[in-house]
Amino acid sequence: MPTRVLAALALIVVARAALSSPRLKTHPPETIRVTSTHSDGQSAPRAAAIVDSQSLLDSYTRGASTPGAETARRVRDLIGRMTLQEKVGQMTQLEIGMVTDGQDADLQINPAKLHKAMAEYGVGSILNVKDVALTVDKWRELIAAIQNAAGETRLKIPVLYGVDTVHGANYVKGATLFPQPLGMAATWNPALMLAASRVAAAETRAAAIPWNFSPVLDVGRQPLWPRLYETFGEDVHLASVMGAATVRGYQGEDPGSPTQVAACLKHYVGYSVPTSGHDRTPALIPIAMLRENFLPAFEAGLRAGALSVMVNSGEVNGIPGHADRYLLTDVLRGELGFDGVVVSDWEDIKRLVTAHHVSATEKEATRTAVLAGIDMSMVPSDYSFSDLLVQLVDEGGVPLSRIDEAVSRVLTMKARLGLFDDPLRGIAANTVVGSVESRRLALEAARESIVLLKNERNVLPLAAEARVLVTGPTCDSLPALNNGWTITWQGDRSAEYPTDRRTVRRAIEARLGARAAYLPGADFDKAIDIPAAVAAARASDVVVACLGEPSYAETPGNIDDLMLSDSQLRLGQALLDTGKPVVFVLIEGRPRIIRPIVDAASAIILALNPGMEGGAALADVLFGSVTPGGKLPITYPRFANALTTYDHKLSEEPAPGSTATMGYAPQFEFGFGLSYTTFEYTGLTVAAGAAGRSAPVKVSVTVRNTGSRPGAEVVELFVSPRTARVTPPVKRLKRFVKLTLQPNEAREVVFDLAERDFSVAGADGRRIVEPGAYSILVGGLRHELAFRP
Ligand code: BGC
Repeated sequence: MPTRVLAALALIVVARAALSSPRLKTHPPETIRVTSTHSDGQSAPRAAAIVDSQSLLDSYTRGASTPGAETARRVRDLIGRMTLQEKVGQMTQLEIGMVTDGQDADLQINPAKLHKAMAEYGVGSILNVKDVALTVDKWRELIAAIQNAAGETRLKIPVLYGVDTVHGANYVKGATLFPQPLGMAATWNPALMLAASRVAAAETRAAAIPWNFSPVLDVGRQPLWPRLYETFGEDVHLASVMGAATVRGYQGEDPGSPTQVAACLKHYVGYSVPTSGHDRTPALIPIAMLRENFLPAFEAGLRAGALSVMVNSGEVNGIPGHADRYLLTDVLRGELGFDGVVVSDWEDIKRLVTAHHVSATEKEATRTAVLAGIDMSMVPSDYSFSDLLVQLVDEGGVPLSRIDEAVSRVLTMKARLGLFDDPLRGIAANTVVGSVESRRLALEAARESIVLLKNERNVLPLAAEARVLVTGPTCDSLPALNNGWTITWQGDRSAEYPTDRRTVRRAIEARLGARAAYLPGADFDKAIDIPAAVAAARASDVVVACLGEPSYAETPGNIDDLMLSDSQLRLGQALLDTGKPVVFVLIEGRPRIIRPIVDAASAIILALNPGMEGGAALADVLFGSVTPGGKLPITYPRFANALTTYDHKLSEEPAPGSTATMGYAPQFEFGFGLSYTTFEYTGLTVAAGAAGRSAPVKVSVTVRNTGSRPGAEVVELFVSPRTARVTPPVKRLKRFVKLTLQPNEAREVVFDLAERDFSVAGADGRRIVEPGAYSILVGGLRHELAFRP
C-alpha cells in the first residue's frame, strides 16, 4: 500500500478513536498548536489539532465510570443472604481443568467436577484455556454450561471467567493478533493502542469471556526478563499513556457492554526488575525508585478505570508481593483509592510457603495474603484456599468484615460487567472474530511497530527486481513473529497457526517469485548448513537474514545471557564475509546483543514481535511500500554487562568537548529509529510563565520533513535537571507526539509542561519540585531553563 494511503489510514485510526470516545471529543485541543508550511511555501494553520501524550493520558483518565447506587444495593442485599462458604467461594478462582476433562478439540465439561465447583463450593471465578485456543462456539458452549450450573445454585451468582488476552484475543481461534505490547509501544501511537484494545476486547467478549488479565503495566527495565515483550518498555511516561489507552480500549465507557471486557493491571508492583533477570525472582527497589518508575503506570491505569489488579509473583525488598500489606492496602487502597478486585497470581498464596518461605503452612499463608489485601485467590487447581479460609474465619483468624469487603468487590465487578443481567453477554454483539477490518488494523499496527536501526548507503528499501536470499531461524516462523501467548501459552505449536498468514520468507517470495532464494542457514541453537547459505548469498544481490528468538512465555523464557546465540552470530558473520549487502531483521521479544555483526551490516530492522500480520508488514518495509517510523521503547544494549536504561544518572560531568560516555554507550538509544525520509528540528523555544501551576512552561519546536517521501516522526521531549537533592537522571521523557509529514511539510508543535513535570520522588518517596536549572531536549536541540515553582 502506498505510504500516502497509509498515512491516511493512520489518521483514520486516530479519528475513529476520537469519534467514538466522548472523552477525546471534549478534550481541549489548544494545548498543541499545529501550523504547517506546504511545499508552495505558504503557511496555514492545520484544521486538525494534534494531541500530545499528556493530553491523551488526561483524556483516558478523565471520567471513568463508577458503580451506581442500584449496584451497591444489589451487592449489599446478596451479601446479607450469603453463607460463609458461599462468600469464600466468590473469592476462589479455579483453572478450567477443574471443571473439564480432555484436551484440545476434545475438551468437555465434566458434570461431576462442575457440580463440585458450583454447587458445593460456589466458586466465583474460572480462568484460562486448557491447552490451545478454542473456537468462539466452543468457548460459548463451555461457558454457557458453567453459567448454567451457577444459575442453578441457591443465589444464582454468575461466574467471572478470565483469560489472558495479551496481544489480541490469543485464546480465541481465528482472532486478530496485534504486535505484542512492546511492539505496540514502538509505534508510540496511543490512539492505535486504544483501537487495537477495542478489537481485542470485542473478540474476547464474543467468546462470552468478560475479564482480561491485561495490560502488563510493569515497566520493563530489565532486558533479560522473559516478560519484557509483555510490557510497554522502559519508560514510565510511555508505559502510562499506552497502559491507560489499553484500559480505555478494553473497558470503554461501560465495561458491561457486549463488546467490552474488564482490564486487570498486572503485576502490582515491582515484578519487572528481578536482579537475576529470571522470572519470579527477587527485586530490590528503593522506595523513591518504586514511586518514580513503577507506581505511576498503575496509577494511570487505575485512573483510566481498571476494574481489577493482579499481584506481583515475586518479591520486592524481601517482602513477597502477596504478603505486602503496605503496597496492597496502604498504597493501593489508601493512597491510590482503588476499590476494585485484587486477584492473586497463579498459585501464589501457596508459593508464600514453597517459594518465598515467609509462611510455614498454607493456612498461615492464606491468612497473610487475605489480610494483606487479596480479594480473590487464583488457587487454581484444588479447593485448599476455600477450605482453609472458612476455617480461618471460624477460628477468628480472619475477620468476617474482611471477607465481606472482598466479596463485595467481586460482586460489584460482576454487576458492572452486566453478568447478573446476562451471564453470556457478548454473544449478542455478533462480533465477527478476525474480521477483514480488524486484520487491517493489525497490519497497520505491525507496520508502525517496525524500527529501522541502521540503513547504510540507503540499501533499503530493496529494489523490486532484486535477487534476494532469505535466511535465518526467524524468517519462516509465525511463532517468532508472535511470541508467547499465541494460541497456546508458549506460542510454539506451529501446526495450530493459521495457514494463510505470511512469514517473512513467504511475504518476500510473494513479491519476488523466483528472484527470492530461501535457505535456513541456522537454527536458534545450531547451524543447519551455513556453507549452503553462503553460496546462495554469493548468487544474490542482497541478503535478508532474519535472526532473533523462538517463542516463549514467563519462566520457560529465562536466559542467562542476552547475547544472540552463537549459531546465529556465526551465520551472520559468514554472510557478511561474502561482501554482499546484508540486512539483518531482528524478530525478538527482548534486545539480544548483536554487537559483533552490527558494524559490517548494511541495514538492521527490529521487529518486536509484530504479530500475525508481521511478515507482510516487514516485507512492506523492506521494499518501501511503507516508510518505517517506529522508535525504540527500550535501550538496545551493546554489552551483556552494561544494561543501563536511558534515564540513568550522570556520574560526572564530561569535560567540555569530551566524548566520554561515563560507561553509557548502548548499541541504540531509547527513542531512536530511522526513516526512509529525514526530519529537521529547528526553532526550539522555551517560555517559562510566572510561578505556579496556572502558568506552565511552553515549549515549541518546528519539525520539517526534509526528505523526498512522506513519513511519520515521533517528536520526543525530555527534561533534564541539572542539580537536585536526589541525584538527577540525565533526562526523562515527559511528552511525545507522532506526526505524519509530507515532503517539505513543516509543523510547529507546542508542548505545555506543568509543575509536575519538574518533580521527582524524593529519598523518602514523596514528590518534590526542585527549583533550578533544567535543560529541555527535543530532537537533538537543547534549551536551558531556570524553573521556579
Ligand atoms: C501469569 C499471569 C497470568 C496468569 C494466568 C500467571 O502465570 O504470571 O500474568 O495472568 O498466569 O494465566
